[in-house]
Amino acid sequence: MKVEKVIKAYSLKEALEALRANEGRAELIAGGTDLLVKIREKHNKKPVIIDISDVPECRGIRFEADYIAIGACAKYSELVASDQVRTQMPGLWEASRSVGAPQIRNLGTVGGNIANASPAADAVPPLLAMEAVLEIVSPEGCRTVALKDFFKGKGQADLSASEIITQIVIPRPGATQINVQFEKLGLRNALAISRLSAAAALELGEGCVIDKACVASGSIGLTGMREPELEAFLEGRTLDEATIEAACDLFSEVVAKRLNGRGTMPFKREAVRGVFGAALRKALRASV
Ligand SMILES: Cc1cc2nc3c(=O)[nH]c(=O)nc-3n(C[C@H](O)[C@H](O)[C@H](O)COP(=O)(O)OP(=O)(O)OC[C@H]3O[C@@H](n4cnc5c(N)ncnc54)[C@H](O)[C@@H]3O)c2cc1C
Repeated sequence: MKVEKVIKAYSLKEALEALRANEGRAELIAGGTDLLVKIREKHNKKPVIIDISDVPECRGIRFEADYIAIGACAKYSELVASDQVRTQMPGLWEASRSVGAPQIRNLGTVGGNIANASPAADAVPPLLAMEAVLEIVSPEGCRTVALKDFFKGKGQADLSASEIITQIVIPRPGATQINVQFEKLGLRNALAISRLSAAAALELGEGCVIDKACVASGSIGLTGMREPELEAFLEGRTLDEATIEAACDLFSEVVAKRLNGRGTMPFKREAVRGVFGAALRKALRASV
């Protein structure tokens, strides 16, 4: 569809007013790395584009005592440049570093990655493993939704055309949590869309026993998702090489069942051992 108008919003109020004034005809743009591809291929569905990339309420990364708030329009390059992100959310930092090429990281945003609801979205598995919550604002008000409940299918999310994701809020991990770790398998380093990714956040008790496990995957289903079977398996076990091997075997079975009949199944059921095993081994190394 031809784009008729682009509106630049400089505040959340302006963005919401533009959405209201163009109800049903407008689409948001942040970095444009997904939407501009659609526009070029004439796959966009709305004639009005509202640019929210400079809306202050959607910018920046705040490290508060109990939580970390990432503005939806925070770019990957901002996350990669942040020492606090690298040390406090290493999985998200790794994921951001792995996205596309520098040009994509300089424009692409975390909110755009989530809103796009692609199963290969790299920011999603680490955010799922960190139990992120989305703050969503519309002309009607504000609501929150857990990221794990946000995706409804490939390219489908619990987000209406009049809503803006403003922030991604991550509860601060407890002192015993091994920060989320991320691994990705792509076709090649630059510009590689994930063929498989995994993230794990583990809370360890006495003797390296896993008290709580949050495991998430990308590109092994219609959306990025938590992996409850894996989490249940890991909880109560000691984090060691034997547990990692057994967890990889289980994940391989889970993937084989989920992708049964798909051409990618034989590849992914093997590849998942390497990707998930590497994420867990990083957690093991971080625990000593
Ligand atoms: C060459 C290339 C390489 C890429 N490599 C990777 C990669 O390695 N890993 C990866 O995960 N992705 C990759 N991508 C995809 C893309 O860069 C990311 O998904 C990026 O995070 C999208 O963010 P954006 O700000 O550019 O989104 P936009 O293109 O601006 O928006 C995407 C969609 O999200 C909506 N949206 C954006 N922000 C909001 C918001 N705050 N609230 C509500 N809706 C919103 C828009 O309306 C639009 O529908 C690549 C893309 C290209 C072109």
